[in-house]
Amino acid sequence: MELTRRHALGGAAAVAAAPLFASRPVSAAAPVADKQAPSFYRYKVGDIQVTVVSDGRFTFPLEENFILNAKKEEVNAALEKSFLPRDIFTIYFAPLVINTGGKLVVVDTGLGPVSKVNSKGANGMFADNLVAAGFDPKAVDMVVISHFHTDHVNGLLAADGTPAFPNAEVLVPATEWKYWMDDGEMSRAPAGRMQGLFKNNRNIFEAALKKKVTPYEWGKEVAPGLLAVETIGHTPGHTSYVLSSGSGKVFIQSDVTNNPCLFATHPGWHAFFDQDPDIAEKTRRRIYDMLVTEKLQLQGFHYPFPGLANLEKDGDGYRVVPAPWNPTI
Ligand SMILES: [Zn+2]
Repeated sequence: MELTRRHALGGAAAVAAAPLFASRPVSAAAPVADKQAPSFYRYKVGDIQVTVVSDGRFTFPLEENFILNAKKEEVNAALEKSFLPRDIFTIYFAPLVINTGGKLVVVDTGLGPVSKVNSKGANGMFADNLVAAGFDPKAVDMVVISHFHTDHVNGLLAADGTPAFPNAEVLVPATEWKYWMDDGEMSRAPAGRMQGLFKNNRNIFEAALKKKVTPYEWGKEVAPGLLAVETIGHTPGHTSYVLSSGSGKVFIQSDVTNNPCLFATHPGWHAFFDQDPDIAEKTRRRIYDMLVTEKLQLQGFHYPFPGLANLEKDGDGYRVVPAPWNPTI
C-alpha cells in the first residue's frame, strides 16, 4: 500500500516539478495533411461482400423551411442534442459496391463529376473512391438505382458525359422510371426544383444512356441476394433492399430517412425533399418499426460514414447505434 502510494505520489510530484508544456521549440517536421484517406469500408453479409464507398458530404445553411412542419429553433435544438453546430446541416452520401461472388453490383452512384468540381471535392467523390477501393468501373456488371434524385443518379455519367460504368446493365425501379419519363408528369411538375429534376433525369437516361435500362419490380431479386422493397414517399418509386446471404441480412434503406440525427429521432418531420411527406413518414415509421422488431441492421445512404447501424425505439422516434468499425473483414 505504502509503496503504491509513494510511487503514485512520486509520479505526481515529478509531473508537477517538470511543467508539461515547457516552452520547447516547435519542430514539426511533417507537413499538416489537408485530406482524409479515400473513404471506403468493407463488411460481409454471409458470403456477399459489401463495400461502402463515400461520395462525400454537402454542408449548407439551415433554411427556415428546411423542415416543413418544424420551426428552425426546434431543428437547432435537435442538432445540439446530437452535439452538432446550429444553423448548418450536413448530408452524407454513400453508394455501395456489392460483390455477390458472381456479380459486381453498384447501388446508387453519388452526385457525379460536375459536383466534384463545383464542391472542390467535398462530394462527387464516388468514382475516385471506387478506384481507391480497388474496383475497375469497367468490371461493374450491374448498377442498381434506388430513385431518381441527383445524389443517386448523377454518378451514372463520367466527366465527359459517357456512361461511367460502360459494361454495366442499369436497373431502375419500374414505378420510378414510369413517373420521371412521363411527359404529362413533367409538364405538371412545379417550376424550380421539380422541373430541374425532370430535366436532369431526361439528360442522363434519354440523352446519355439512350434509355438502355432494365426496369425492375418490387418483391423480386434485382441481383443475387438483393431483394427490392417498396418504400415510397420520398419519390413515387423510391426503393430499398434486403441483402441476404446464408444467415446474414442487412436492410439497405436508401432515403427512408436522411441524416438520422434529425429524421430517425423525429420520424414525423417532413423535409422539403420528400415528394409526398405524409407517405414518406408512414413508410419511415413502418420500416423502422420493422427493423427494431426484427433487430435487422440497416445501411443508410445518408447516414454518417460508413452508415451501418442498429435501431431501437426511443419515445416517438428511434435511437441509432452505429455498428462498431471492424478493422478486419
Ligand atoms: Zn438521397
